[in-house]
Amino acid sequence: MTSVPVPYPNELIYSVIARTGVNEAISSPKQLLDEVFGNRKVISTLDLPSHIEKISQHLARAGQYSAEKLIYQHTLFPFYAPFVPESIRQRAIKLMSGFSNGAVHMMLGVAASRVKAVNYFRLCPSCMENQIRDYGETFWDRRWFIPGLNTCVCSACLKNLPESWQEHRHAYVLCPTTIKNESEVTGKVYPGLLKLCSSANEVLSLQAMESASFDQWTSFYQALAADNAMTRGRYADHEQIAEALLSCFPSSALQELNLDFDVKNDTNWLKTIFRKHRKSFSALQHLMVWQALKLKGTVAETIHEVKKKRAVPIRRLVKQKTKGQVDIYRAKWQSLLRRLEIKEARRAEGGVYAWLYRHDRQWLIDFNAGRRRKRNGHKPINWHYRDLTLTRRCLELIAEKDSDLSSPRLSKLWLINHLPHGRSSAKKLTKLPILDHCLDTYSESITDYQIRRLTYAAYQLLRQHEELAHWRLLRLAGLSIERITDEANDFLREVILRVRH
Ligand SMILES: [Zn+2]
Repeated sequence: MTSVPVPYPNELIYSVIARTGVNEAISSPKQLLDEVFGNRKVISTLDLPSHIEKISQHLARAGQYSAEKLIYQHTLFPFYAPFVPESIRQRAIKLMSGFSNGAVHMMLGVAASRVKAVNYFRLCPSCMENQIRDYGETFWDRRWFIPGLNTCVCSACLKNLPESWQEHRHAYVLCPTTIKNESEVTGKVYPGLLKLCSSANEVLSLQAMESASFDQWTSFYQALAADNAMTRGRYADHEQIAEALLSCFPSSALQELNLDFDVKNDTNWLKTIFRKHRKSFSALQHLMVWQALKLKGTVAETIHEVKKKRAVPIRRLVKQKTKGQVDIYRAKWQSLLRRLEIKEARRAEGGVYAWLYRHDRQWLIDFNAGRRRKRNGHKPINWHYRDLTLTRRCLELIAEKDSDLSSPRLSKLWLINHLPHGRSSAKKLTKLPILDHCLDTYSESITDYQIRRLTYAAYQLLRQHEELAHWRLLRLAGLSIERITDEANDFLREVILRVRH
């Protein structure tokens, strides 16, 4: 019978199977699967493998290797387990013990998570030296494969190999003993990320334990915001929290983890983690918030705190007594809006608005939307009334400008544009017959306009005791021999230039 070697501390099961192949001198991947699992269809999975019960059986003679122990000490499962609901944790353990077929990755949110799992082989040269010193060989350490992080638990930068473990569907690749390319450029590591890495390794080494519920996480984060005085009323103060997080993790570090967020976006992950939990967050998201809000205590202690929270949310208790009040508050709001605009009503009776917003939000939104529609709807226009008022205004305008010799030409268009509803009136002149007639009668023709300007020019010259010369008048009025109309020219010669004689 095949002998599976006893796993080294933190050694991945994947690595154990790879070593089995070497120890037993089995070169064919399919044969190795046959020998270890009695099943040639097993897919070699590095992070969250299945068929672990089989490995446990192989190790029975070594004692103390239950499937659960192997899952918790030799896979990446503990990195996900504390943050998913208990029912999922239980099912995932079952699947990993037996047949999984990728379902575990789905259940634990690995596939959907923003923090991507490590699909490439990675290693830490410095840890490898220690492995050789202590055990005489190298092996894949699970701490090199924590999603999102590029740093080893020993603070060294992890080295990515070009090969993906997923390329080998059924084969188990042995950890190399030496690394070819030593001249790897090490990236800059933020101090915040080093601490995060150390916490992440704490998560990975957690013992098997029951998971907290979503409601417990919700209460925990509500309390966390309150303890840090980062609340506004009953709600978390998201701006302050974002500030704290960004001061701990600069946005370039967040980008590296694929956890950058738009502070203004109402559904960014940092805001949702402080609201009612409806889905699981990744370990890194939790750890970053704890770090940013300077939470004391180890990871295990913090998770213990979470599990002490009340399992039933407070809001569900409130709901009962609100039923009778709904009618009262609705009536109050309706009566307010009979005399006030929505904004004014909110200012006047903020309490009523807030109550409805909290307890009867959909009704409030619908009712307000209906109000707005009514207000913005078009009233029918009284055209006769508009005709009269616009005509009156038009005559006033002409009277104002008539004595102002410097104003531009009071053309039909100019006058319409200087009336209320100008643009729409221009299109509807057939509905405004009095105005139309008024415009035809009193608007200035080009000749009228030129005469007005010539008069103005003459007036200015006389005031300055200048001679009323023909050329001077034209220039001052902005006219030329070519542009001046015959009538205006007659006016110039017959009326103005006669004045000087
Ligand atoms: Zn290391």
